Amino acid sequence: MPGQHVAIIEDEEDILELISYNLRKEGYRVTTAKSGEAGLLAVRNTLPDLVLLDLMLPGVDGFEVCRSLKKSAETAHIPIIMLTAKGEEADVVAGLELGADDYITKPFSPRVLLARVRAILRRKPETESEGSSPIVVHDVAIHPGRHEVTVGGVHVALTHTEFNLLHLLASRPGWVFTRYQIVEAVRGDNSPVTDRSVDVHVVGLRKKLGEAGRYIETVRGMGYRFKG
Ligand code: CA
Repeated sequence: MPGQHVAIIEDEEDILELISYNLRKEGYRVTTAKSGEAGLLAVRNTLPDLVLLDLMLPGVDGFEVCRSLKKSAETAHIPIIMLTAKGEEADVVAGLELGADDYITKPFSPRVLLARVRAILRRKPETESEGSSPIVVHDVAIHPGRHEVTVGGVHVALTHTEFNLLHLLASRPGWVFTRYQIVEAVRGDNSPVTDRSVDVHVVGLRKKLGEAGRYIETVRGMGYRFKG
């Protein structure tokens, strides 16, 4: 949605310019920072709708920036898309576990970048809509309006993607969702389907749910379901 505010934290000048140019052209407001320190300051001061975060930054790196933003109540809700180097799958997993919502591998085309940005920004109002009734299965309660999950009454902090994933699965206990359906529902229809990232998010979600993580069952060759 034009007018929304995106912060870009990236030390490589040409990539920073490429992203800024394309986002501005689409009507987004853009704030840029070339280091982790400056990026943290900019995000805390301006509270953007989305952060694009390079992981390999001099000084305070992207992981540290992600951790700091997700730890603070003021910035924890801001979605983060990581910019990662090709072949650095361990970085992707680590970043998603720290609470990042998505990732884009460099080099990327402006079209892919814009699609991901749109997909992440579009799903925000849905999950924040008021008045949606909570889903309660076993000891897990999901409050769509408040974007909140509790297990046995204890609050569990999830990323947007993990929340949407859990919400989808728990909305029909016992029903098997294919990875493709999950990707469609969780990431929006403009982003490319990546089955593997679904698996990564499931691993992260199970871990955060603790004992209740066992309710999310893998159905071999098909996908996932929430135990009915
Ligand atoms: Ca870099």
